[in-house]
Amino acid sequence: MPDSLAELRRDLAAAYRIVANEGILDAFGHISVRNPNNPQRYFLSRSRAPALVQAADILEYDLDSNPIVPPVTRPYSERVIHGEIFKARPDVNAVCHHHAPSIMPFAISGVPLLPVFHLGAAMGRSAPFWDSRDEFGDTNLLVVKPEEGASLARALGNHSVVLMRRHGATVVGGSVRELVFRTIYSAKNAEHQLAAHMLGHVSPLTDGEADMAGQLNLAPGPLARAYEYWVRRLAEREGRGKSDPMLRAAEAAARLPAPAKPASAMAKRGVKKKSGGRK
Ligand SMILES: [Zn+2]
Repeated sequence: MPDSLAELRRDLAAAYRIVANEGILDAFGHISVRNPNNPQRYFLSRSRAPALVQAADILEYDLDSNPIVPPVTRPYSERVIHGEIFKARPDVNAVCHHHAPSIMPFAISGVPLLPVFHLGAAMGRSAPFWDSRDEFGDTNLLVVKPEEGASLARALGNHSVVLMRRHGATVVGGSVRELVFRTIYSAKNAEHQLAAHMLGHVSPLTDGEADMAGQLNLAPGPLARAYEYWVRRLAEREGRGKSDPMLRAAEAAARLPAPAKPASAMAKRGVKKKSGGRK
């Protein structure tokens, strides 16, 4: 968890640009994070293309999606997606709404998106499908009214990803990093599911596999390793040097030592500490 709100805004802005750099967000889509000091508020960029978002663009809202400070710039019209999900899911601290090319065939056809490979398990066992016509009939498909956001949050339920008919998807996470990982790998999962479908019948991971692989993917080690990779790719794209503070922090986090084996387990097996140097 970042130790200041300034750091949180920088991290959130970087998450926008990372997810854009990985081809998930384009001119549209957005990412939010809950205020760790006040769970009744959240942060979201002003209305801007994700690849361009900087810390100074981040605005703060209450859970009814009213701005805390009247903005001088335009807010996203779909911000209720974030406010209503934060209201319904106290365990969620970050939300991404997107229209990734790989997700769209599923949002258009209604074919279920299912975890089909180990990293795709980050999406969970399944993703519900929200059809705005069920409660609202014909609309312009944007989620702009609080009741529309609340309906989407109900469809999401306790899942991590919800597909939105003819529109896109919304993904949630316990932190910005977890959210970024889940957003990127659920989109890759969609890509692989569609490609595998062309070869024949595709079955999903078992529930047990989805649970175990999903948990492993989001452990600190894999998360830090993936994040260093995404931050490096972004730094290269943006022409920032190796001394860039964000890149150095991501490298340091990914260099953490392997967890030590519990002493009791070593003692049980009679493992002795080596005194000599390397052979
Ligand atoms: Zn949208």
